[in-house]
Amino acid sequence: MVSCQGLPKKYARVIVNLTARALNHPFTYAVPAELAAEVKVGSAVEAPFRSGTLVGFVVSLDDELTADALGHEIRPLIKVLDKAVFWGAELLDLTHFMSRYYGCLWLEALQAAVPAPVLKSVLASLHAKRRSHLAAKKHPCSHVSIAEYPAWKLTAQQELALQAISESCCGGPPVLLYGVTGSGKTEVYLQAAARCLQQGRQVMVLVPELSLTHQAVERYRGRLGETVGVLHSALSIPERRDCWLSLQQGKKQVVLGTRSAVFAPLDALGLIVIDEEHETSYKQENAPRYHARQIAYRRAKHYGAGLVLGSATPSLESYYLAQQGRYRLAAMTERPQGQNLPEVHLIDMRQRGKRSKMIAPPLAEAIRQRLADKQQVVLYLNRRGYSKYLQCNDCGLSVGCPHCSIPLTYHKNKGHMRCHYCDFASSPPDLCPNCGGSDFLHGKGGTERLFNEVAALVPGVKIARMDRDTTGKIGDHERILREFASGEAQILLGTKMITKGLDYPMVTLVGVINGDEELNMPDFRASERCFQLITQVAGRAGRGHLPGEVYLQVYNPDQLAVQAALQNDYLALYSAEMTLRRSLRYPPFCRLVRVIASGLDEMAVSVQVAKLAEYLRQHSRDAEIVGPAPCVLERLQGKYRYHVLCKGQAVQPLVEDISAYLEELSRRHGSMSVSFVIDAEPQSLT
Ligand code: ADP
Ligand code: ZN
Repeated sequence: MVSCQGLPKKYARVIVNLTARALNHPFTYAVPAELAAEVKVGSAVEAPFRSGTLVGFVVSLDDELTADALGHEIRPLIKVLDKAVFWGAELLDLTHFMSRYYGCLWLEALQAAVPAPVLKSVLASLHAKRRSHLAAKKHPCSHVSIAEYPAWKLTAQQELALQAISESCCGGPPVLLYGVTGSGKTEVYLQAAARCLQQGRQVMVLVPELSLTHQAVERYRGRLGETVGVLHSALSIPERRDCWLSLQQGKKQVVLGTRSAVFAPLDALGLIVIDEEHETSYKQENAPRYHARQIAYRRAKHYGAGLVLGSATPSLESYYLAQQGRYRLAAMTERPQGQNLPEVHLIDMRQRGKRSKMIAPPLAEAIRQRLADKQQVVLYLNRRGYSKYLQCNDCGLSVGCPHCSIPLTYHKNKGHMRCHYCDFASSPPDLCPNCGGSDFLHGKGGTERLFNEVAALVPGVKIARMDRDTTGKIGDHERILREFASGEAQILLGTKMITKGLDYPMVTLVGVINGDEELNMPDFRASERCFQLITQVAGRAGRGHLPGEVYLQVYNPDQLAVQAALQNDYLALYSAEMTLRRSLRYPPFCRLVRVIASGLDEMAVSVQVAKLAEYLRQHSRDAEIVGPAPCVLERLQGKYRYHVLCKGQAVQPLVEDISAYLEELSRRHGSMSVSFVIDAEPQSLT
C-alpha cells in the first residue's frame, strides 16, 4: 500500500538470506526506477551482496536513508521475485515481534511466515533445476468430490459455546472450549464460521496434524463449500501459492490448515479456531520456535477477531488462563446424541513375564468378540518398528546408537536396527558385543510386532497400520483411513497419529497397549501428556449408537494421571498438577526459556554453556537460572548437548539478554564450533 501513495520510494530496507546473528538486521538498497511499481513492503527480492546476489525481503520503503545506512555504498535491487506475493504490514510486524520474542533471526521468522511456496519458487528460480519435480506432486485432496455436510440442531451446551464464540468475535475474550471427546466441537466451529462468513469476515481453522486434515476438509468443504482453502505442507508449491493468493485477494474466505497456516493473509479476519489446542505439534521445533496459539492470539487481537481454543483435554496452561479470567470457559460435558463416554478397564501389566505377549488376555478376548460382532477396533501403541531394543539376556546390554544416546529400534521387516533420531542403521548383532552371549530379549514391542501379534490372533482380518513407516508418501494417510472408514479394514493400529480427531461410528473397542509410557519421560508435563493421550485415544470408542469400551494396559496403575484418565476427571489432574507446578515453579507459574548448546567437542560445549549461564546469572537477575546440565538426549547425531533453563516472569527480557550475548559471541568469533538454540516456552525438554 505504502508505495502506491505519492512518489515512489527511493530506498528499500531488506532482510537478506544470511544466517549469522551479527548480520540479523536490514540492509539498505536503492529502488531502481524500473522496479518502483513492483517493489512493495513484504516483496521478496534479489539483491546484490558482496560479489554475488542474495534473496531478501523488503521490510520498509523510505524516502531518505536511515542513520544506519549513512556512509555505506547503496546498490540497486536487481529484481522482484514474485510480483503477486508480498505481506502486509501486520504480518511484517508479526515477524519482527517473533524475532524478538523467540530469539530467532528476523529472516527465520519471515521464512516461516512467507508462503513457503513463494520462498521455494524464489529459491528455485535461482537454482532452476528442481522446480518441475516440486510442481509435479499433486495432493489427492484436490480431486475428491465432497458430500454436503448438513448442520445439526445444536444442543443447549453447544448453543452456549457458540454464543461465547460470537461474543469473542465482537471484542469478547478468547474462548476455551473444553468439550469431552465427541461432544460436537466441530459442529460449533462450523456454525461459528458460517456466522462470520455471513458478516463478510474471514475464518482461520487450525488442526494439529496432516493426518487429520482430510476429515476436516470434508466437513468444512461439505458445509461451507468452495470458499474453504487448504494450506499444509503436503500440497504442491503451485497449489499453496494459489491458495495463499486467493486468501490474500479475498477470493477465498476460510483457511483450513496445520500450524503454518496461522500466517495466512486474511485482511478481513473474523475468527480463529484452534482445534485440539493442547497438541504439541502447534509448537515448531526448529527456528523460529513459535507456538501457533500465541501467534493466533496476537493476530486475533490485531484484527478484533474471535479466538476459540478447543480440546477435550485442554493444556493445563490454557485452563489456568481460563481460571484467571483471561479466557472464557465454555464446557460441553455431554455427547449430543446422549452416547455415554466409553467404559474404561484397567489391565495391570506388572505381573506379566518379559517374554509374554503385547496384548493381555482380556483385551485379546475383547478384540475377538468385537470382530465377531462386525464392529471395529482401534489399537494404539506409541512405538513404531518391531521392538524398542534388543537386550542381551545375559549381561543386560541393550544395543544403542553410536551417535545418539538412545537404544536402536529393531525393524524386523527390514532386518535392521535403526536410530529414530539420526536414522543410523545397522544389522542386529549375532553375539552381544559386551559378553558374547547369543540370547537376545526383545524390549518393549513396537507397531510392527503388534501387527504380527494381532494378525496371529485374528487370522484373515484386514488390519490397517498407521505410523511413520507406513505413511511415507503423500496420500498414504488418506488411503489407510479410507480403508478403515469403508470397513474394509476392521482394525486400525498405529501410533499417536490415530489418537485424535477420528470419528468412526463402528469403533466400539479401543485398546491402549502402553497407556502410561509417557510417564517415563523426564519432563514436567509427563503426567499431563499421559492423561491427554489416554483420554484422546479412548474418545475414539463409542461415538456412534453402539456403546464403546476401552482396555488400558499400564505398568503404573496407581499414578494420578492414569487414575484421573480412568475416572475422566480432568479437574483432579489439573489441581494436583497445579500444586506441584506452583511449588516447583514450572509454567504457568513462570515463563521458561531453554538454551541448548551443542557441538562435537564436549569440553567446548560445556565450557561455552557454562559461560552463558554465568552471564545470565549476572544480567538476568530476576530470573532463576537452572543448570547447565547435559540434556536428556546427551548426544544427538554425534553432537554433545547441554542446556540451561531460565525461569522468569516474562519471556522477552530473558530472550533479549540471551540474544545479546549470542550476538556478541557471533560478532567476536564468526562461525563457532558450539552452536546455540534459544527455545522460548519449550514444549520439549529432551
Ligand atoms: P468433537 O470434535 O467434540 O470430538 P465432533 O464434532 O466430531 O466431536 O462430533 C461428534 C459427532 O457428533 C459427529 O459425528 C457429529 O456429526 C455429531 N454431532 C455434532 N453435533 C451434533 C448435534 N447437535 N446433534 C447430533 N449430532 C451431532
Ligand atoms: Zn542416532
